[in-house]
Amino acid sequence: MRASRFFISTLKEAPSDAEIVSHKLMMRAGMIKRLGSGIYTYMPVGLRVIRKVEAIVREEMNRAGAIELLMPLVQPAELWQETGRWDKMGDELMRVKDRHGRDFAIQPTSEEVVTDVVRSEIKSYRQLPVNFYHIQTKFRDERRPRFGLMRGREFTMKDAYSFDRDLEGMQKSYQTMFDAYTRIFNRFGLKFRAVAADNGAIGGTGSHEFHVIASTGEDALVYCPDSDYAANMEAAEAVASGARGAATQALTKTSTPGKTKCESVAELLGLQLSQTVKTIALTVESEEGKKSFWVLLLRGDHELNEIKVSKVAGLKDFRFSTEAEILEVFGTVPGYLGPINTKLPVNVVADRTVANMADFVCGANEADFHYTGANWGRDVPEPLVADLRNVVEGDASPDGKGVLAIERGIEVGHVFQLGTAYSEAMGATFLDEGGRPAPLQMGCYGIGVTRILGAAIEQNFDDKGIVWPDSIAPFELVLCPMGLDRSEMVKEATEQLYAELQAAGIDVIVDDRGLRPGAMFADWELIGVPHRVVIGERGLKEGNLEYQGRRDEAASAVAVADMVAFIK
Ligand code: ATP
Ligand code: MG
Ligand code: MG
Ligand code: MG
Repeated sequence: MRASRFFISTLKEAPSDAEIVSHKLMMRAGMIKRLGSGIYTYMPVGLRVIRKVEAIVREEMNRAGAIELLMPLVQPAELWQETGRWDKMGDELMRVKDRHGRDFAIQPTSEEVVTDVVRSEIKSYRQLPVNFYHIQTKFRDERRPRFGLMRGREFTMKDAYSFDRDLEGMQKSYQTMFDAYTRIFNRFGLKFRAVAADNGAIGGTGSHEFHVIASTGEDALVYCPDSDYAANMEAAEAVASGARGAATQALTKTSTPGKTKCESVAELLGLQLSQTVKTIALTVESEEGKKSFWVLLLRGDHELNEIKVSKVAGLKDFRFSTEAEILEVFGTVPGYLGPINTKLPVNVVADRTVANMADFVCGANEADFHYTGANWGRDVPEPLVADLRNVVEGDASPDGKGVLAIERGIEVGHVFQLGTAYSEAMGATFLDEGGRPAPLQMGCYGIGVTRILGAAIEQNFDDKGIVWPDSIAPFELVLCPMGLDRSEMVKEATEQLYAELQAAGIDVIVDDRGLRPGAMFADWELIGVPHRVVIGERGLKEGNLEYQGRRDEAASAVAVADMVAFIK
């Protein structure tokens, strides 16, 4: 590639809405361009990285025996109604109508469509196992799109779906995907960790998240340095104390005789009411009319994330009895939010009133309506009372092999054992060896392709810009000729090296824009190309070129004749 014929557009300053380093650097490096909230154009430099990520994912998925197809972006509502997700997904599901007034979803994921494919295509156990995947645009109307590609509304995901004849087969397919993911993230050159996850709302038996380790990550990961125990905070807390279960149970039951509900929950959680719990009243308005709730606030650091779904269509908002009251309490105390005496879920609107709230677990008086990971923002102060967290650094690891450590991560992949939830809802069966129909055992496996870009940058940057790992860099190497227009010697050497590097299969760009060295270097350091070769007359006269790796302090001289071998 020649820079003069490519499109490079760098900025000195990041736009003010970019909060975290990866978003800032992607904007400054001209990788993405904002079109609307959570919606971006992938500019040429950014798209090159996306394509490299996709290529690695595709290669490893194919190697693991998964088969690529491409399922539609726009999917009929009827399929989503079959599984009940048309209602369950709430506002995150983008809905559109066609000219005939028929309802469609813009896919946030594709379980329904792939299950529809297999229920008509898979007839016999002889066709199993099978694993279909695609790399396709997704749309999720996220409550709070932010951080550029990290939490977009439109984004690219690789999603794969395995189908097996029995549980054992599904677990094998799951392991195959787990191993493929490990290879994929290794090939990206990123530091990552696979952690056990709760598969909450989706149901099923097993789930792991893959996280890129970064101090700016939204998720807390719990692991034991002396063993292979690793879990996300949600799963770790569930194991550690059963507190979440206890809370759900308490909310499900009426209060212990002689105690208020709030006191009962506090008791179950082993907390001192006076220190940790406050209650306030609030009112929810929904299609079913007004309902009164109370809210229990526990001080403590619950896992950051977002409320996943609103289970009741039409439930738009909830209001506190007095705003001053809620601000006073929510402004300072992270905690537990639990409506009682209703089956309605809490559906919090991130508006002015709740902007200061964070670290909540939300629940209702039914297990199924219990949510963890409510989050209204990351600009919130650290929890006031960290020691009330259910899992803290230094706790004994559940496997008894050491103590727990905590670090932060960015969820870039997720593997799930779904079991028969979807195949039963949609009637996806096959005939077993005895000729009897049985439901397909399913697994699903996602990778946030575009989120990888943000995560990679959060892990790899310095004050000059991005530092891409070789495998996903927009270009592996940049040639920077000095005085290209003045010096025949530089011009010739540049052309020759450029041709040789291309022939050697190196993804090289030559900067023939005629910029001054300072501006030229600054651009490539910002864009994060991992290797740079400077071609100047002075060096050439001694038979040398200057090589500098993106993380190197200084350049080193490499003989012209050795350069291609040196780079390879
Ligand atoms: P999160 O917890 O961050 O909301 P999720 O658990 O809802 O993610 P999954 O349904 O597990 O996401 O989807 C698989 C992968 O898709 C995630 O691991 C993540 O890498 C990616 N992903 C999910 N939501 C987004 C988004 N809004 N923008 C970019 N990537 C996303
Ligand atoms: Mg999500
Ligand atoms: Mg998640
Ligand atoms: Mg997930």
